[in-house]
Amino acid sequence: METIQQDIHKESDSAWPKKVPHRDWHAFKVELKAAAKSLGIDDIGITSADPFLELKERLIRHRELGRESGFEEPDLDRRTNPALLFDRPQSIIAIAVAYPSKLADAPKSEPGARRGIFARASWGVDYHTALRERLARLEDWLRERVPEARVESMVDTGALSDRAVAERAGLGWSAKNCSIISPKLGSWIYLGEIITNLPLPPDTPIPDMCGSCTKCIDACPTGALVGPGQLDSNKCISFLTQTKVMLPDEYMRKIGNRLYGCDTCQIVCPANRGKNWTHHAELQPDPELAKPLLVPLLTIGNREFKEQFGSLSGSWRGKKPIQRNAVIALGNFREKSAVPSLIDVLLKDPRPVLRGTAAWSLGRIGGEEAAAALRQAAEQEADAEAAEAIARAMIVISASEEAPAENIRP
Ligand code: SF4
Ligand code: SF4
Repeated sequence: METIQQDIHKESDSAWPKKVPHRDWHAFKVELKAAAKSLGIDDIGITSADPFLELKERLIRHRELGRESGFEEPDLDRRTNPALLFDRPQSIIAIAVAYPSKLADAPKSEPGARRGIFARASWGVDYHTALRERLARLEDWLRERVPEARVESMVDTGALSDRAVAERAGLGWSAKNCSIISPKLGSWIYLGEIITNLPLPPDTPIPDMCGSCTKCIDACPTGALVGPGQLDSNKCISFLTQTKVMLPDEYMRKIGNRLYGCDTCQIVCPANRGKNWTHHAELQPDPELAKPLLVPLLTIGNREFKEQFGSLSGSWRGKKPIQRNAVIALGNFREKSAVPSLIDVLLKDPRPVLRGTAAWSLGRIGGEEAAAALRQAAEQEADAEAAEAIARAMIVISASEEAPAENIRP
């Protein structure tokens, strides 16, 4: 209760809010939507501020089944009831901003110069920044026209579900891959919203257009889409790439060369065919950042990491998960030229998760140099989990020495 009161006070002035004068809200909504482009927004939809009752049921089931990622707002009431976040809300304005899906002049990942990849949602400037700027412009636009307007913007880290708001506001349908798909923009969109006391007429939700398609479910590498629109976050590569722990062998293999996030279930989606949005300059990627070389990431310092990758939303968990994923990617590439760098991680990195992951990677690459380093590491490793990973990698290497020729990369 205390938190609710604090939030309400945050968005309102100490004075009792002034009453919003009557006006033609239909005409106002038309004017608002027409202004979207000039505010840098690609689509606007309106929904009521009623509680999201169906969502709450789904979130309860999701929690009971242990499918949460742990990154979510824990209070299900706050996630589903706008009235707990805002004093007497009347409506919610949902916005969509489209981002690119193609990397122009993408650098090639080649033997000796392997590269990882960040998910598309992380390519340009951090979307929290991009959306907050646009929402701030929209807030100003509203206040200029209605001085009595009270507004509270939310982006991703807000308690409300951006997707549930966007769906009910008619920006797109809630698809089997758990994305919101806009018929005109596809699912390459950032979502944000403003809760307000303005009584704007709601838009109509878009009916489900997935039909009998199951491409996303079939393509998911880990089976994380356990049903249409049902995600087991603990199996989802997008979530796994953001963790800081030692990952199970199965998931490390499936991560491939992803450094942050996973786009597979959106790439295969027919609704995204031909959709690549290049009209927002700050959302365009620097190909060297979106697809960086892997080996330099292993030794990157904190300051250098912040300078190079700090503007990407994919850096929000710091450099450790990105470095762990770079180690995994080199193992998945079986990149022999990276063996000395991986040995340095195995023997010298102060973080046990990195040492254990380097052991896994060296086991996957194989060879006498890797085997000798693993033997040395086994003698000096003090961390139990890393020691276990080293022991497993040594078994993998001995098994691969006996493996038939087709398992050995030239
Ligand atoms: Fe599966 Fe990747 Fe989609 Fe997660 S993001 S559901 S792992 S395809
Ligand atoms: Fe829907 Fe098919 Fe796209 Fe999956 S791939 S979200 S089922 S249209």
